[in-house]
Amino acid sequence: MRKKILTLQPIKKGYIMKMYKCKICGYVYHPEKGDPSQNIPPGTPFEKLPENWVCPLCGAEKDQFIGQSI
Ligand SMILES: [Zn+2]
Repeated sequence: MRKKILTLQPIKKGYIMKMYKCKICGYVYHPEKGDPSQNIPPGTPFEKLPENWVCPLCGAEKDQFIGQSI
C-alpha cells in the first residue's frame, strides 16, 4: 500500500504573512506591499512594523489593528 502525504495548507516561502485591518477606518495593511507613505518596504510583516507606526489613513496605533485570516 502506498501512503499519500496530504498537505492541508500550501505554504509559500515557508511563512504566510497576515494582513491586518484597522478597526477604526477599515484600512488593510498588506505585508507584501508595505507602507510607502511611512517608508515601510514591501515584505514587512505587521509584527515587524516600528512601534511608532500608525494607520496611514486615520492615525490609529498598532493595537487598533486586527489580524485577518486568509
Ligand atoms: Zn485606520
